[in-house]
Amino acid sequence: MQKNKIALSFDVEDWYHTPAISGSSFAKYPTIEDFFADWKGKIDCLSDGFFNLINLLDKHEIKATFFIVADVIERYPEIVDALKKRNHEIQCHSLHHVSAIDSKTKKEYQSQELWEKELVEAKQIIEKTFNTPIYGYRAPGAYFANWMVDILERNGFKYDSSVAYNSLYNKTNVTLNNIPTIPYFINPQDLSNKTPHAGLVELPWSYLKVSKYILPAAGAFFYRLLGNRYFNLVINQCLKNGDTMFYMHPLDFSNEKIPLTSNKTRPAYWINMGDTTLKRFEKFLIKYKQNITTCDEVYTRHLTK
Ligand SMILES: [Zn+2]
Repeated sequence: MQKNKIALSFDVEDWYHTPAISGSSFAKYPTIEDFFADWKGKIDCLSDGFFNLINLLDKHEIKATFFIVADVIERYPEIVDALKKRNHEIQCHSLHHVSAIDSKTKKEYQSQELWEKELVEAKQIIEKTFNTPIYGYRAPGAYFANWMVDILERNGFKYDSSVAYNSLYNKTNVTLNNIPTIPYFINPQDLSNKTPHAGLVELPWSYLKVSKYILPAAGAFFYRLLGNRYFNLVINQCLKNGDTMFYMHPLDFSNEKIPLTSNKTRPAYWINMGDTTLKRFEKFLIKYKQNITTCDEVYTRHLTK
């Protein structure tokens, strides 16, 4: 267990990128352009959380992977500068954080052609900005379709980290079976680890198995909700099986008051943010420091197994 690794990753996006606000079949604003055309309130809740996080990683000398939404780059130059000064791995979290499949029907919310066009544009922007090859992908909202596998491969992506077997509901367009917690070569039909074709490697989201039940984990919302006691069980179980993945958002560590876009009550998403989560997460980092590494290292370890 000691030698197995945790791919530590962060999805760099702001509050208005989340599927309830923009870019999904159930968003208040269908696109990010609609959001910016209409929204007159506070925009930046990301920088505060990002710098809380990056300082914590500096303090503990931990290197991780940052999946970046490409449109963050032009709006948050201080974040780009801070990442350039450090040695973290940079990868791709889409152009505008659009959930590409409809949450209910699982049909395309974005056409495959548009999805590919935005993927390529995001890859180019991030590569140019950070002067580094981009070959790792995480799907916004973990909405991942089997048709994405071929497109990712033909555009030079080597690994993906989006398949969430553990979610409260299925976020893919196939019936998920045989999804492990360890990295695997992904089957382009059913996204499983059966009959792999030695192409794209999947770093799946972690989960906790209790008899026949599979409980959600992976990090972020569930981490803020359930805390270290639960996640120690998850991570310990996953590390017994092999390498695993854990993720958060810089936004999870923000003390800013996240705006509401309507008179409705605050979405459950926003619970336990800021210093509460930062303190909790520092304990997690200390406990698992020997296991924590980047997605790239976990991907490379899979290739050499
Ligand atoms: Zn995201």
